[in-house]
Amino acid sequence: MSGGPDDRSAEGRGGLNQPRQTTTLGFVGLGAMGAPMVRRLLGAGHRVLVHDVNMAAVAAAVSKGAEGRTGPAAVASEAEVVLVSLPTPDVVRQVALGPGGLIEGGAMRVYVDLSTTGAQVAQAVADGLAARGVTALDAPVSGGVAGAEAGTLSVMAAGDPAAFERLRPVLEVIGANTVLVGDRVGLGQTLKLVNNLLAATTWAAACEALAMGARAGLDPELMVGVINRSSGRSFATEKFAAGPVLTRRFDFGFRMELMAKDMRLALQEAEALGLVMPTSRAAQMLYGLAMAGGGGKGDVTELARVTEGWAGVEIAAARRNEA
Ligand code: NAD
Repeated sequence: MSGGPDDRSAEGRGGLNQPRQTTTLGFVGLGAMGAPMVRRLLGAGHRVLVHDVNMAAVAAAVSKGAEGRTGPAAVASEAEVVLVSLPTPDVVRQVALGPGGLIEGGAMRVYVDLSTTGAQVAQAVADGLAARGVTALDAPVSGGVAGAEAGTLSVMAAGDPAAFERLRPVLEVIGANTVLVGDRVGLGQTLKLVNNLLAATTWAAACEALAMGARAGLDPELMVGVINRSSGRSFATEKFAAGPVLTRRFDFGFRMELMAKDMRLALQEAEALGLVMPTSRAAQMLYGLAMAGGGGKGDVTELARVTEGWAGVEIAAARRNEA
């Protein structure tokens, strides 16, 4: 790819196809996931040019060694590879293709969307950028903030296999399980939505079941501990219930509205495929109720508050320090 990332190796400065070498990366979206991913990329020796509408997030990244830029176009006018981690499909479209967007930067050759935004937007953005000679990969991630901090995320990439192979060393800085799931842009997004639909539905079922157990008189901590060594265990019971809910800290680090967005995108895709999805749709209603009650900005683990309210109990660990 002329002007692509591996041109740097010709200059003796390092290409993306050689894992130990570093390159100049752009990164837009320094939120719960983006900020720790940028810290890891800096730690691996990359130069990282960053932008976020939140100035405090930019300042925090700069304090770790990143270089702030005023907007997406400024990032893409210097960085050949630009990664984004943004909240919604609309924001991704705007940042990539809108006025002042990445498309206006002349240096970018590869664009990687790490957000969860659905196959439709991935395809639309890829088409828009292709007209400017930019290769797009969708590479949504799973594993939460803790996985982003530890570099243990699952990265579900899709798009041009050659571009993926060149990018692999960069993606492996943020993900321990980096897989090309298909050569059609959007397939990574589809797999991520399938995963999150399952995770969200499992969590809704767990909220109901755990509230029932607590209402019946089981000690919540004991109950969750036994389930996590039995056949009812899941990511939701291990990572949502066992920590954030039992401690009442509700601090997993994924906003309820983002999970609701993922369910909506997944079910839209299912509908386009002519599939009914009754179980997932029932679970979606629980999130709808939580959001209607003002829970959208809260943590996804606060979904438990809805079923706790119905049952008149708390799924809480006993406060051992109390007399
Ligand atoms: P977040 O809201 O914490 O971060 C998004 C960042 O984008 C914020 O810093 C925000 O200021 C910035 N932003 C918004 N609009 C912008 C714009 N126009 N230009 C530049 N920056 C802008 O969200 P997050 O939890 O980091 O999630 C990011 C994406 O990753 C989402 O699509 C989410 O679904 C997905 N995801 C999140 C998790 C998780 O556990 N938090 C896990 C896997 C995937």
